[in-house]
Amino acid sequence: MEKAMHIAVIPGIGFSHLVPMLQFSRRLIELHPDFHVTCIVPSIGSLPDVSKFIFQTLPPNINTIFLPPVNLSDLPQGGSLAVQIHLAMSHSMPSIHEALKSLASDETETTLKAIIVDAFASEALDFAQEFNILSYFYFPTAATTLSALLYLPKLDEETSCEYRDLPHPIKVPGCVPLHGRDFYGPAQDRTSQVYKLLLQHAKRMRCIDGIFVNTFLEMEKSPLTALQDKDRGYPPVYPVGPIVQTGDDAKGLDFECLEWLEKQKVGSVLYVSFGSGGTLSQEQINELAYGLELSNHKFLWVVRAPNNTTPYAAYLGVQNDVDPLQFLPCGFLERTKEQGMVIPSWAPQVEVLGHSSVGGFLTHCGWNSTLESVIKGVPVITWPLFAEQRMNAVLLCECLKVGVRPKVNEKGLVEREEIAHVVKHLMEGKEGREMRKRMKELEEAATNSLKDGSSTNAFAEVAFKWEDLAGENKSF
Ligand code: UDP
Repeated sequence: MEKAMHIAVIPGIGFSHLVPMLQFSRRLIELHPDFHVTCIVPSIGSLPDVSKFIFQTLPPNINTIFLPPVNLSDLPQGGSLAVQIHLAMSHSMPSIHEALKSLASDETETTLKAIIVDAFASEALDFAQEFNILSYFYFPTAATTLSALLYLPKLDEETSCEYRDLPHPIKVPGCVPLHGRDFYGPAQDRTSQVYKLLLQHAKRMRCIDGIFVNTFLEMEKSPLTALQDKDRGYPPVYPVGPIVQTGDDAKGLDFECLEWLEKQKVGSVLYVSFGSGGTLSQEQINELAYGLELSNHKFLWVVRAPNNTTPYAAYLGVQNDVDPLQFLPCGFLERTKEQGMVIPSWAPQVEVLGHSSVGGFLTHCGWNSTLESVIKGVPVITWPLFAEQRMNAVLLCECLKVGVRPKVNEKGLVEREEIAHVVKHLMEGKEGREMRKRMKELEEAATNSLKDGSSTNAFAEVAFKWEDLAGENKSF
């Protein structure tokens, strides 16, 4: 009897690395129901409830192995978020090895053929050779970022200063030229440990069997063309997106904000959220509050407790027991009770963006939020905070022209008048209407790419390759 193709999938730590990889696995199984996937799940501490819920809805041919959680107190404190996640992943490598070993040795009904890892799990690729399996990356963000990452070793060789001090824009292959300060966040300090890891990672990415990237051709044609240019010597790149949360996990749950949205006019509400862990300073929260109030537009704001030094302070879920609403300016809630709604910490984002009352999204430009906005056709105000979010903002505003970016003052603050200005610009101006129109076109292209279009074809191409190799009984 022919054995089913078995794929091991290893996400990174954090909601926005775990969930997209589970969605990716779902999509793989949806298109190839005869495949079998095992998701090997690392974590720091116990998994948040929102992630646990998602495991309960996985189809039967996606199994999960939960690794022993890494203790946050076992990690050196004070490093950047990327370094902390990287170290936690390194701690998990022995148990990842064990998990792979058990999958490779139990081949009664399935054969382990490939390992697909998140960027943070790249060390696990070293096991591919030992188990004689193919090795792939799942790159959960933009092709623009992937192009920047693969270009980094060359840029590093050619540049002597920090990228933000370059007198000319950086020309990442296939991308709109961007100012060095908008370049990839973790590459902003070239003396840092995270930068060294990034370089190592970029070099490792060149020696694998392929890279799945969570984007689609119509959104990032030019960077994808550059990535697929054979002369660059990159591994094959497969654009399989947009892979986003469906919002199904929120269905049937009682969310007050969805009830509130029901009472608002079509396209009238600005949704404001900074992802799963983005945080603002107290001063910036004040400006944002006054700016929203000043705009006179309806808003739905997911408020998180401030952090004056770290824009990703809540990313690893360390803020749970503080009431964020206490940090809003005095009298704000009372004054705006007819104008807006604030929600502490978390909203059913996909459902919110899909609601007809929502006409704009003030976003930190995390890639999942970006794609969710595209798939729901909602134009954006871009407010990047960390990681590759500044590059996403450039893509949205300068390349796709579906967003507007507020100006930041010399203290790094977006002032209330500027906030009110961009909100009006997006929600009521002629340019806002044009952005909305372009976003709707992008939404249509995204939907088509998932039907019989570019994303489905990219998946089919890899599956065909795997089946072909298995049929010829080639060893990988
Ligand atoms: N999200 C959500 N509710 C919230 C905040 C975030 O459902 O209140 C989800 C959002 O839909 C997205 C993910 O969390 O899927 C955030 O991922 P993204 O890549 O945008 O940002 P990150 O969390 O990595 O900064």
